[in-house]
Amino acid sequence: MKLALIGFGQAGGKVVDQFLTYDDAIDGGFVESVIAVNTATTDLQGLENVPQKNRVLIGQARVNGHGVGADNELGAEVTEADIDEIQHAIDRIPTHEIDAFLVVAGMGGGTGSGGAPVLAKHLKRIYTQPVYGLGVLPATDEGGIYTLNAARSFRTFVREVDNLLVFDNDAWRSAGESVGSGYDRLNREIVERFGLLFAAGEVGHDDHVAESVVDSSEIINTLSGGGVSTIGYASETVETDTGGLLDSLTGSASGGLEDGHATNRLTSLVRKATLGRLTLPCDAGSADRGLVVATGPPDQLSRKGVERGRQWLEDETGSMEIRGGDYPRTGTDEVGAVVLLSGVTDVPRIDQLQQVALEAQETTEQVQANARDEFASLVDTGGELDALF
Ligand code: GDP
Repeated sequence: MKLALIGFGQAGGKVVDQFLTYDDAIDGGFVESVIAVNTATTDLQGLENVPQKNRVLIGQARVNGHGVGADNELGAEVTEADIDEIQHAIDRIPTHEIDAFLVVAGMGGGTGSGGAPVLAKHLKRIYTQPVYGLGVLPATDEGGIYTLNAARSFRTFVREVDNLLVFDNDAWRSAGESVGSGYDRLNREIVERFGLLFAAGEVGHDDHVAESVVDSSEIINTLSGGGVSTIGYASETVETDTGGLLDSLTGSASGGLEDGHATNRLTSLVRKATLGRLTLPCDAGSADRGLVVATGPPDQLSRKGVERGRQWLEDETGSMEIRGGDYPRTGTDEVGAVVLLSGVTDVPRIDQLQQVALEAQETTEQVQANARDEFASLVDTGGELDALF
């Protein structure tokens, strides 16, 4: 499906930059346009692929290009104030050609955390296309303010978008990795999963497996109904030369064996994708709707395998709304399954985030009250000294 990507804040900008690289690499065609919005000049300058004219600096009157310093209320305020600047950039993109907007932001910071929900609300008011969010949760060791920001942003963002796709940095970080290289790796994981899903809806329908190819409306229907979504992905490298030695030795019988093998492989990839590490770990059984996409060389995409995987997911979730289809890709030796779980509700990470955020909020209020008292007693001389004026 064709997307207008809008990266908000530093993480949002870097992720959309990486989406452009990935779309190019797989010849996906799912990025119709891309815009990056930030309050910090240096973050916008650091992007590699987003065209210069599509980089929008907001909040200059308040923060003069220096960012909002993890203050997401300020991030929301300057976005409200400068929404016209963002709209001017959107006016330059062919919005009639897009299937949806995707607003991407790190939820623990200031600009994206506060600004993305404001922009989503604005877009929903103006356009008929769905507005999706892609929110990145902070790692638990980033500290109370990031957790509090993320919990408040999550609450607001999920309300303002048609569906909030979530990636949890905490579930995907590796011990001993530097922050910089860590983010680069995380961003590749993000764009591969979400990129394959969105590219799936972009395959030409003159393809020889056209009947089973995923359509963008199937992605939209799976995401409709709102709530929170997560993605699982599993892949395997396969021998693409199926007409090799085995076929010539065993004749036509090997065709049946190969088919059976491809079917089993796909069914087990669907299970692995669902039960393995999700972008937002959760109980897959709590999903309301789902979409199974098989990707890889056309001759490896067993229709029966996808159907069995789809049925398995129906049993697993107890949902009747599990869709399935193919995303045939030539020139790759990877067969994979992408599983989109939408409307998930049993998400321990969100409960934990909210708990820690509440504690952080209480501690912050207590510390501020104490500081006020201590400052008052510092300057108080028991009424014996007069102030100058
Ligand atoms: P903003 O510029 O004020 O919106 O804030 P940032 O985007 O810099 O940071 C917000 C959160 O995003 C942080 O808490 C990090 O968890 C996360 N983050 C920052 N940069 C990246 C990145 O490149 N990739 C990922 N996955 N997360 C990031």
